[in-house]
Amino acid sequence: MSVKRLKVIYTGGTLGMLPSPQGLQAAGDFQQRLEKALPSDWLKRQQLDLDLEAWQPPLDSSAMQPSDWFQLAALARKAESDYHGLVILQGTDTLAWTASALFWLLPDFSLPLILTGAQYPLEAPLSDALSNLQEAFYWASQENFSGIYLSFNQQLFDPRSCRKGSSQERNAFASVDKLPLGHLDKPPSQSALPTHPGQALPRLSEGQLASLACDFQPRILRLPLIPGLPQDWSLTGLENLDGLLLEGLGSGTTPPLPAFFQQLATSQLPVGLISQCWSGGVHYQYAASQALIEAKVVSLGKATPESAQTCLTWLLALSRENLVSDQKIPELWRKYCI
Ligand code: ASP
Repeated sequence: MSVKRLKVIYTGGTLGMLPSPQGLQAAGDFQQRLEKALPSDWLKRQQLDLDLEAWQPPLDSSAMQPSDWFQLAALARKAESDYHGLVILQGTDTLAWTASALFWLLPDFSLPLILTGAQYPLEAPLSDALSNLQEAFYWASQENFSGIYLSFNQQLFDPRSCRKGSSQERNAFASVDKLPLGHLDKPPSQSALPTHPGQALPRLSEGQLASLACDFQPRILRLPLIPGLPQDWSLTGLENLDGLLLEGLGSGTTPPLPAFFQQLATSQLPVGLISQCWSGGVHYQYAASQALIEAKVVSLGKATPESAQTCLTWLLALSRENLVSDQKIPELWRKYCI
């Protein structure tokens, strides 16, 4: 068995945090701390060679932006020809966004790219950090395995259906509307692995991803439609948005908001609808959905909020690079998310 080289990108997050007077804070020296935490000889026994890149400064993932997703995607494309796999270490608060953003931005990715984090810092007693790291290295070193996955607490998730469900439990992530893809004891079968639905579209090159990281900031707002909004309410600043992600009630109904839907009907903005329910998604089936249909709000089915937002980010990036037309975005958003 030959040694497998893994590229590891440490962006920050609880996994590498240390206590500070203000509370836990992303901290450096990650290479030395990781070497100290891993059982001696573990990498040798696993035949792994890690090439670690640590972000300076490391971030709490609440500060991560679409520019970071583009940067990570560019780094992943750059690493594609030199490594067996990639592992991205990040805080859990926005891990589902980064995972689904990379899923959308990297169609046909030829290596395993595994994202993970932890609920406890590496040096904390009974921390989950080391086991999550070792599991990510395990998945990233598998043979005949490629694509983007989130690995956490022994489970492997499809980024499009995965959400952070608990802010405290070690089992922080859950798969919505379907089972996790695999478990350490039961790796996924080849046929169960997700494929990118947008294979037919042009792909963003490493150079385009790097340039998007520098100067593209899509402005997408996510807005729950809740009981109590006044009927004459409308959204100030709609013209400054690039996309609007609405969260409807139940299977896709809305409180009566005639002024708002009139405003949407006359705008060119891509507007999509997900459900506020944890599972089941949107199926327009009630008269109380009519205003949404008339305003051409597209149903995004069972898309998670993270996947819906990052899919639109990808489509807007393609449009910025003149690879799809603006008019096609709502239709493609619906087609790929549903
Ligand atoms: N606030 C932390 C972060 O997202 C939480 C974590 O890592 O679990 O960076």
